[in-house]
Amino acid sequence: LAKRDHAAYAIYCTETETHRRNRTALLADLREAIDGGQFRVHYQPKALLRDGSVNKAEALVRWTHPERGWITPDEFIPFAEQTGRLKSITHWVLNEVVGQLARWHDSGLTLCVSVNVGMSDVEDDAFVAFVDRVLRQHHVEPAQLCLEITETGMMHRPQQLLVNLDRLRQLGVSLSIDDFGNGYSSFGYLAQMPVHELKIDRTFIERLEHNFENISIVRSIIELGHILGLDVVAEGVETQAIWQALAVMGCDEAQGYLIARPMPADELAHWLEKGFD
Ligand code: C2E
Ligand code: CA
Ligand code: CA
Ligand code: CA
Repeated sequence: LAKRDHAAYAIYCTETETHRRNRTALLADLREAIDGGQFRVHYQPKALLRDGSVNKAEALVRWTHPERGWITPDEFIPFAEQTGRLKSITHWVLNEVVGQLARWHDSGLTLCVSVNVGMSDVEDDAFVAFVDRVLRQHHVEPAQLCLEITETGMMHRPQQLLVNLDRLRQLGVSLSIDDFGNGYSSFGYLAQMPVHELKIDRTFIERLEHNFENISIVRSIIELGHILGLDVVAEGVETQAIWQALAVMGCDEAQGYLIARPMPADELAHWLEKGFD
């Protein structure tokens, strides 16, 4: 090895060592996060493109770490899934969201809320029974709950997955394919999925204004979704121009900073009273 390579190797080793220590620490912290009440759920509204009305929202988990502060879900959710800790997070989020749906219902507000779930959750045979139990405990209608699953995750173990998705659907829960367009679903595969909704990945939406190719891609996804009888949602809608373009293309719903950022439950109730236009 040349001297230069030795130096590079030493740096590499230190980095992986730090990385490994960070992961170990994070794993221990994840265990405490739920019991320690460090998670919160924020809600981001979804609007109908037809008239701007809102009666749906997506639940997004937030972790405030006692020392490291705010950690984004993109950082800890994939890590939690790799290390087998996602299940406890998903259970906590579902309980929290369904409890909130019940409290909103009592105060005269009936919303549908989407919860993101991982492939490892849906593949778990006890999952369907868990969802059923939580809904019954809180006397919440299954149709008020939607579960979002990423397209890439769906390619993983089709058979087992389809069985559980069917059982969830029979329960009356809505199902959505998240981040659509980034994976490799074939038309035939997609047609088999017992889902109600398809969410176009944000990367196609945010480039819509400047990239004409994307217009064709988004239009095709909307058509594909409609052929399959699905509601099509665009995420990451940040400008009025994009809203207009999506409305013209016949997209059903929009979610993004143009409408509102994710916010705590009580803020959402106020926001809904004010209305959006
Ligand atoms: P996602 O499911 O695709 O959620 C949408 C993400 O886009 C959210 O990021 C949201 O805050 C962000 N977003 C919404 N509108 C806009 C916009 O107009 N512009 C931009 N630039 N971003 C927008 P967030 O909350 O950081 O979540 C990131 C990802 O973490 C989620 O992506 C989802 O995959 C995962 N995640 C979040 N909460 C949960 C959860 O409770 N369970 C699981 N399993 N995954 C979660
Ligand atoms: Ca999602
Ligand atoms: Ca998404
Ligand atoms: Ca995503």
